[in-house]
Amino acid sequence: MSTEINLEKLFDNSIKILTDLIGFRTISGEDNNNLINYCEEYLNKLGATSFKTFDDEKKRVNLFATIKAKKPNGIKPIILSGHTDTVPVSKSWSTDPFKATIKGDKLYGRGSCDMKGFIACALAFAPIYSQTNLNRDIHFSFTFDEETACLGAPILIKELKKRNIKEGICIVGEPTKMKIIDAHKGCYEYTTYFEGLAGHSSMPHKGVSAVEFATRYANKLIELREELKKRVPKDSIFDPPFSTLQVGGIFGGIAHNVIADKCRVEWETRPVVKEDGVFLNQQIDKYANEVLLPEMKKIFPQSNIRKEIIGEVIGFDRVEKSDACELVSSLTGDNSREVVSFGTEAGLFQEIGISTVVCGPGSIEQAHKVDEFIELNEIKKCLNFLNGIKSKSTIN
Ligand SMILES: [Zn+2]
Repeated sequence: MSTEINLEKLFDNSIKILTDLIGFRTISGEDNNNLINYCEEYLNKLGATSFKTFDDEKKRVNLFATIKAKKPNGIKPIILSGHTDTVPVSKSWSTDPFKATIKGDKLYGRGSCDMKGFIACALAFAPIYSQTNLNRDIHFSFTFDEETACLGAPILIKELKKRNIKEGICIVGEPTKMKIIDAHKGCYEYTTYFEGLAGHSSMPHKGVSAVEFATRYANKLIELREELKKRVPKDSIFDPPFSTLQVGGIFGGIAHNVIADKCRVEWETRPVVKEDGVFLNQQIDKYANEVLLPEMKKIFPQSNIRKEIIGEVIGFDRVEKSDACELVSSLTGDNSREVVSFGTEAGLFQEIGISTVVCGPGSIEQAHKVDEFIELNEIKKCLNFLNGIKSKSTIN
């Protein structure tokens, strides 16, 4: 550990920054320009270069900023990665969710642990990196809409590929209490829309009930769920070991005696291997197109079934020899590796060849909950970790 670092001052700065970040209301889907501009201005003042990528309306933004190596020696750059969005809040909070509140050894606020805490630590450390004789680039990757099926990150990743930033070590700072997470399942979400023909319930043969066809579709999904169990990989590291599937909602119809012309099924699957996702989609699409739709069209040719992809967050696969895991282990002294049941952006970075690990301050236990908090000690642990990265990135 380097001696010239004043960890106390860094801690105070990270709390200040975290307070600012929590103050930006950045619920998934909402405008996050203010938060991103704050981060960009802050980093650019330190001499970082940066670029932004946007959604179609430019309402939501990803930021990728770089503190350049003074003398690059060919070692892999490091990407400190966080999502800027948070899940929504309910009325039952005992503090203002958009105001950081410290009580005892905890800091409360929406996003405090998931995952503005990590972003605040990374930003607090940025001035140190900018004053260090870095032998590798340090990147900051801040994305939008991770919580809604990772909508922002793929746009950023596409740009990284274009700019030939395809190797490195990525630390995704989701709350893991600074433990190494090196794998998780994928998470694919879909909404399937059914359009039939309305009519009076006394004449069922003259209508096409979207609700009834949607129900059969949901039943088929449940059948396929059993198939997924049979496809469990031998050495699966997950709990449960097979790909899961659930129907989260069926919405349609207006009254007992009216044939429903519209219905939608919301469902998701969490594949342990990518092939399961492919298998499931092929099977359910085949059933919709070859069984259900022809039946619907026989009565009403304009009938329709449309499956919309809400998001396909690809899985994060365990890699035995991982530069990212080795880096974290060497800094924390913890060689254990765990898997989690939640999804992250890690698989997206991994997919383009970047060695990736999920490791950040705070606990997932407090994420997405009323009165979300981060333990102040977790912030300190993260700052120590970032200090270790400095040591590993300094010209001797
Ligand atoms: Zn998160």
